[in-house]
Amino acid sequence: MRAGIVGGGILGRLIAFVLQQRHWEVTLFDHNKDTCSLAAAGLLTPISELEKSDITIFQLGIDALKEHWPALLAQLAEPIYFRHKGSLVVAHLQDETELTHAMHLIAHKLNSTQFFDCLTPGKITALEPDLTLNCKAYYFADEGQIDSQHLLQVLTKTLLPKINYLDKHYVDLVKPGEIVTSHVTYSFDTVFDCRGLGAKSILSNLRGVRGELIWLYAPEISIHRPIRLLHPRYRLYIVPRPEHIYLLGSTEIESEDNSAISVRTTLELLTAAYSLQAKFSEARLIKTVTACRPTFINHLPKIYYSPGLFIINGLYRHGFLIAPSLVYELLRFIEQGRTAIHYPHLWESL
Ligand SMILES: Cc1cc2nc3c(=O)[nH]c(=O)nc-3n(C[C@H](O)[C@H](O)[C@H](O)COP(=O)(O)OP(=O)(O)OC[C@H]3O[C@@H](n4cnc5c(N)ncnc54)[C@H](O)[C@@H]3O)c2cc1C
Repeated sequence: MRAGIVGGGILGRLIAFVLQQRHWEVTLFDHNKDTCSLAAAGLLTPISELEKSDITIFQLGIDALKEHWPALLAQLAEPIYFRHKGSLVVAHLQDETELTHAMHLIAHKLNSTQFFDCLTPGKITALEPDLTLNCKAYYFADEGQIDSQHLLQVLTKTLLPKINYLDKHYVDLVKPGEIVTSHVTYSFDTVFDCRGLGAKSILSNLRGVRGELIWLYAPEISIHRPIRLLHPRYRLYIVPRPEHIYLLGSTEIESEDNSAISVRTTLELLTAAYSLQAKFSEARLIKTVTACRPTFINHLPKIYYSPGLFIINGLYRHGFLIAPSLVYELLRFIEQGRTAIHYPHLWESL
């Protein structure tokens, strides 16, 4: 079978990876512009995300975190930094009601409180000794993080000898069984459109939500898990990476503006990091990142299909969390038919 995939973000690269493993002949097109995946912080937090997201994201995310990611990563050309050691959700003592409300909301959506534990100050110190904030905290044991940028690099490295990778190729048109560039029309058995915001011309209900992120180098600090800080005015997180790198993020602004990070965001993110651990004042600011997340009105992904074409989009703020589960949902459809899918509400025929 011959697959044509448009879009080399996390979704397109993962689809290419699993199809070539199943002996498909894969061609991947990407024009290497506005790839949202390059911006991601790599949070894999399906439970604490529930404060704002739908239960479907939890289901897709838990499957990916527990099953798909470990199996996929084991087959890559190089080891990837991937941790499944939990995350903390914290609030300053004066914002405790914010935290309590969020935990009630999550427990309500799950109909259970078994997915998180309230931590005593002693337990906070035992888990994260460098977290000096006088705070209230909850521990989410089933969460983790991944080095999303390294993963993208290694996926490409693993794929390059095995697929036809048409780098810097802009695709004008995607049709069932056909991909059209300015010079050539390519034919395939199945086409997968994974263009993210690049598919706006055919998905009028797709929009971008701006996110900004700061990378810090803080050799004096050792934080091991993602920390999410709930504040009455904003939600912020710190995601640890190897070698004392920390990603501070991120904003969610209703705009498709890809311009540089604002002063306001910079102040808020850095102040929040400093409030969690004063030693962040000596950290070095390595870089800032801005990108727009592709999303639909309900913030859920969508799979449009017709014979010879799948359009998968709307991964919003959960691309790395849910992409593996979406890929296996596609495989169920392709290999076993419509009755085998697990998430019928995400599908729509064209
Ligand atoms: C600041 C920020 C932080 C984030 N943090 C996290 C996180 O911690 N955890 C998480 O799970 N998710 C996170 N996300 C969300 C995640 O990055 C997205 O959900 C994900 O990247 C979407 O992937 P995608 O493959 O669908 O789209 P994209 O990554 O945007 O890929 C689309 C690709 O299509 C290509 N393309 C578009 N149009 C064309 C065309 N006409 N021809 C050829 N190629 C084309 C583009 O070049 C691009 O490479 C974050 C996002 C942002 C902005």
